[in-house]
Amino acid sequence: MKQSLYGYTLEGLQQLVLELGYKKFNGEQILRWLYQSQVTNIDDMTNLSLPVREALKEKYEIFLPEIVKKQVSDDGTIKYLLKMKDGSLVETVLMRYVYGNAVCVSSQVGCNMGCSFCASGLLKKVRDLTPSEMVAEVMTVQHDLNKSNERVSHIVIMGIGEPFDNYDNVMQFIYCINEAKGLAIGARHISVSTCGLVPKIRQLANEKLQINLAISLHAPNNEIRNKIMKVNHAYDMDLLKEALVEYCQKTNRRLTFEYILLNGINDQSEHASQLAKWLEGTNSYVNLIPYNSVDESSYRRSEEKNINNFYNLLKKYKINVTIRREFGKDIEAACGQLRAKSEVRKHENNC
Ligand code: SF4
Repeated sequence: MKQSLYGYTLEGLQQLVLELGYKKFNGEQILRWLYQSQVTNIDDMTNLSLPVREALKEKYEIFLPEIVKKQVSDDGTIKYLLKMKDGSLVETVLMRYVYGNAVCVSSQVGCNMGCSFCASGLLKKVRDLTPSEMVAEVMTVQHDLNKSNERVSHIVIMGIGEPFDNYDNVMQFIYCINEAKGLAIGARHISVSTCGLVPKIRQLANEKLQINLAISLHAPNNEIRNKIMKVNHAYDMDLLKEALVEYCQKTNRRLTFEYILLNGINDQSEHASQLAKWLEGTNSYVNLIPYNSVDESSYRRSEEKNINNFYNLLKKYKINVTIRREFGKDIEAACGQLRAKSEVRKHENNC
């Protein structure tokens, strides 16, 4: 089976052409064709000699997934359901901000972390996505944006999957999209989100990358977190905090904490006080997320007055906090919903 040319750094592409018996500088030419000219056919790389193109075509291709479904929201959010070569379905979302276009990338097919409020967790992990598949998610959106002369400017690795459960591939993906002569997405425009895999947070601190780290926290104490996030049984909030304080000291970067407000579970005044206390000593920013109810879940969205009360209390405790703008409310925009529904339908059809 042919391999995709996506997902390599400049150094990786130089190595690839050297192994094919050609010149190192061909690597940079390929990188520019893929990400600056955005060709989808090796034959279009016209400054490569014919023998180089033929040798490339024997082993490689430029794989873009099939767009199985595309939903466009009134607010401009676009949700794509993409089919990879083996038939795996992956969700990718384009979100539009005043400062640019962000693509939310999935890192795995399904997820094994089993967070009880998450539609992605309803479907177990089938496999990890490769760096080339994650790049292909981004390039699929970029090709769509080319029609309106727009550019992907930010990447958030917050789609389906736990990125740190696929650490090496995700890092390779980040180094690839950050490549200056390629897509050139600045490190500060790249965010990765984890549910709290402590050893990998420590590993990231040593990467010397200026990317943004977000933590899916969603609870103010171990009792609640144990109930809603299985990962807390392995790495509780004390271990997590220790690793994060170290991370901040080493990287000097600010952390983002994601906190989904679940009605009656984690949205009361005492929870806001506990959260503020736990955050002491971290350079952080809290993103409150009103829960987007899914049919399959028993959780409900917090009442408006509780959302505002939680926000105001955190403000009072001098915590940097925002209530996340909701994207694509009119489409199935909560992470995993589109794929979950599609898989459920597929299973229904199979029965
Ligand atoms: S919230 Fe993230 S880590 Fe948890 S089940 Fe969903 S995709 Fe996995």
